[in-house]
Amino acid sequence: MKTQLKKELSNIGDFENPRISLEQYRTPPGLAADLLHTAYMQGDIEDRRVADLGAGTGMLGLGARLLGAEVVAVEKEDDAVRLLGENAEMLGLEAEVVQQDIEEFDQEVDTVLMNPPFSHHSDIGLKFWEKALQHSDAVYGISPRGLRERIKDFVGNSSHEVLGVEEYSISLPPSYGFHTEESHETEIDLIITRRKE
Ligand code: SAH
Repeated sequence: MKTQLKKELSNIGDFENPRISLEQYRTPPGLAADLLHTAYMQGDIEDRRVADLGAGTGMLGLGARLLGAEVVAVEKEDDAVRLLGENAEMLGLEAEVVQQDIEEFDQEVDTVLMNPPFSHHSDIGLKFWEKALQHSDAVYGISPRGLRERIKDFVGNSSHEVLGVEEYSISLPPSYGFHTEESHETEIDLIITRRKE
């Protein structure tokens, strides 16, 4: 299942002119397939209402749709919204796209999937976590390794608990986020949380 999924996700079109300030980068298909497979096995995808926050290319949300979720994709930027629509059409999928800032998201969902922006200069990534923890029963979020303890603390003060942290190394385009000029390899975490009983 994972291999086939990765193959399908590889067709998802990438940002043409990524907005660095919004940290627009396409989640690598291999990582997306892993995340989706893990969530699927936990029962958090099939027949679930899933939100993809900061949906960008639609990599996570469209992947969830492929695996039988009902998906709402939240994205604020015009070009990304257009790209997402094209990608959905290319895969023959229907997904609800809501163009709004994450701060305005107010739907209740079963699961949130997200690869939010993390900037040294703002707490936007934590805003995504705040929304996700408030509005869902399970969260699968990608974040830079260096923020693990901060996010765990954040989750600790919410109605969720951390179920697991998986480590990955991905290569990012130059000038993004948390890597040095020499190496584009970035250590990241997949952090999984669930609402406490
Ligand atoms: N999962 C996406 C990742 C996109 S990168 C993919 O694999 O393609 C993060 C996305 O969040 C970008 O598309 C960016 O435009 C969007 N974004 C950044 N800040 C946002 C905000 N405040 N509200 C909504 N979307 C935002």
